Amino acid sequence: MGKIIQLDDALSNKIAAGEVVERPASVVKELVENAIDAGASIIDIEIEEAGLSKIRISDNGDGIEEKDVPMAFKRHATSKIKNEHDLFRIRTLGFRGEALPSIASVSKLELITSTGNEGTRIVLEGGKVTALEKAAARKGTDLTITDLFYNTPARLKYMKTVHTELGNITDVTNRLALAHPDVSIRLIHNERKLLHTTGNGDVRQVLAAIYGMNIAKKMIPLHVTSLDFVIDGYIALPEITRASRNYISTMINGRFIKNYPLVRAIQEGYHTLLPIGRFPIVLLNITMDPILVDVNVHPSKLEVRISKEQELNELITNSIKEAFKTKELIPAGFTTN
Ligand code: ADP
Ligand code: MG
Repeated sequence: MGKIIQLDDALSNKIAAGEVVERPASVVKELVENAIDAGASIIDIEIEEAGLSKIRISDNGDGIEEKDVPMAFKRHATSKIKNEHDLFRIRTLGFRGEALPSIASVSKLELITSTGNEGTRIVLEGGKVTALEKAAARKGTDLTITDLFYNTPARLKYMKTVHTELGNITDVTNRLALAHPDVSIRLIHNERKLLHTTGNGDVRQVLAAIYGMNIAKKMIPLHVTSLDFVIDGYIALPEITRASRNYISTMINGRFIKNYPLVRAIQEGYHTLLPIGRFPIVLLNITMDPILVDVNVHPSKLEVRISKEQELNELITNSIKEAFKTKELIPAGFTTN
């Protein structure tokens, strides 16, 4: 026998977890995205100790059929794509089939799910199935993760304070809520409610829940269409600024993304309306043919590659400029030169 061996599933899942499950907030992101992909209209997130002792996500989505339940925890097992053709036309948030096996490999996990008929319960510890049985359940999925990173001591040690980790969870949840105003999302930490959106589709209400009513009132809607893009969003009046770019949120086809040129294009739209070193509060959701965007760049799918990027950026800059040309929108004391 040669020197090269193929690692077993448990080990390769743990390796993948190193990338996919960086911290508790990554678990929340992956699981809420799964719930959204399952068509849920209500998602509940319950956290204890910033997710290190407990993360529970329940949804009223489609649920998983009994025979698929063990499959969901296999590596590269997904119901979202079937072939290469699909890979270049991603319409769901997930497609890699890596989240569940990765999360399960570094935690203790219980999943109870039902498609409307009899439900199924599966329990895994460090990625190994310890129980699989029928269970009473309503339609939807309920996932509980306890003792995250219990078997990866180095990762556990790397975790920052409860405050920092909770901040990350809140950020991730806020973004998902902004990208999906039609889903009611509730976040509870140590029994305290941190966010609760109605799911009635009104973006301004989500903005109010996150940034406060006063700011939400000072954001103006933006709607632009071109041959390739539809841009929908809210842009804050230039009188409201922040010291960091973190309040500029960009989404492509319902997926929160980080793309520096896009952020530049937004800033460019405000041009001289903003004091130096100050940034606007902006939310843009860009809809485009999935063939124009490659989301398969990084496991977290935060980075994407956009074809026709230049065209998109110009459209953004120009439409923001145009929006602020309407004189009455510009508060006293600002000039537009
Ligand atoms: P991916 O989302 O990339 O497909 P995951 O590992 O996150 O991979 O999930 C594996 C599969 O399990 C999904 O493709 C989906 O079929 C199923 N699944 C996961 N979470 C849910 C959920 N909350 N509701 C319904 N099905 C789910
Ligand atoms: Mg997923």
